[in-house]
Amino acid sequence: MVRGHPGPCAGCRSGSTRRSPSVGHMINGVRVYQIPMRVRFRGLDVRHGMLFRGPAGWAEWSPFPEYPPAEASAWWDCAVEAATREYPPPVRRWVPVNVTVPAVAPDAAFHIVRSSGCATAKVKVAERGQGIAADLERVEAVRAALGPSGRIRVDANGGWSVAEADRGLRQLNRFDLEYAEQPCATVAELAELRLSFARTGYDLRIAADESIRRASDPLEVRRLGAADIAVVKVQPLGGVRRALALVEKLGMPVVVSSALETSVGIRAGLALAAALPDLPFACGLNTVPLLAGDVTVQPLVAVNGQLPVRDVAVDPALLDRWQAPPDVAAAWEQRRATVAPPPASAATPVRA
Ligand SMILES: [Mg+2]
Repeated sequence: MVRGHPGPCAGCRSGSTRRSPSVGHMINGVRVYQIPMRVRFRGLDVRHGMLFRGPAGWAEWSPFPEYPPAEASAWWDCAVEAATREYPPPVRRWVPVNVTVPAVAPDAAFHIVRSSGCATAKVKVAERGQGIAADLERVEAVRAALGPSGRIRVDANGGWSVAEADRGLRQLNRFDLEYAEQPCATVAELAELRLSFARTGYDLRIAADESIRRASDPLEVRRLGAADIAVVKVQPLGGVRRALALVEKLGMPVVVSSALETSVGIRAGLALAAALPDLPFACGLNTVPLLAGDVTVQPLVAVNGQLPVRDVAVDPALLDRWQAPPDVAAAWEQRRATVAPPPASAATPVRA
């Protein structure tokens, strides 16, 4: 799959690109976007990130606001890969995806699922300020929207103690869960919960998300037997190649998910999902609809529950439309300086 190439650039053809410090000269322009979320999600009402173009195509760097430089630098490595290297060859042209249901009321949850065309839904649970009753109502509405053949996974983002997770998931599983994502915060807690399920012969798979992407050692999940499934995200894991290498070491089924990027960032996640030898579960890459806008006129949004594996053409007018105000852009430039040297051509106006 050939990605947009603005012109020749010695030393940065596929497979031959050097890493970060030398990337500055290759970057064609930097833009900071500011796009509202349609619904508050993981505490965010607006999404920010940096977009730029390198010899291999467009790249996104959008670490979450609270992430320190040590974490945000892995996200930067992912952007550098997107800008400077061709992706590994895809083994599939379409990637099945889930619809994502924020911690909304049941009728809204029903509508989100019905209008998505997806057969798998990921439902946010354990939202701060809500209780298990709200989770049960939401998941019940999602089951009604999907019908009996649809698949439901819940994501607690580590919001429960082991006891709360044990109790809550057994209740939620009356709606037949595919798996439970990050029910508790720590790897040790996930392992304890999984052991509790195993001891009582309870059949519910546990997926690790934050325990993979925010851990100093993502392989601890495997060592402690803390999960059945790993959720992998390309930005936090430092790019498609590094994520592929980790998946091989993890030796467990994976679900590729997004970090709430624009279609530019989603493209990198798609490259990972497209290159994986096995893809047993729908991926969490259909999150562009959670944003109120995008930087392309052809967003990567699911069609009949699948995303096409293709490149993204950035639209200059949409880049202008979602351009962050100067103070926000300056703050992002400062933030970027904490993870990488400044690009030589940062002031160059970008051309889509
Ligand atoms: Mg998650």
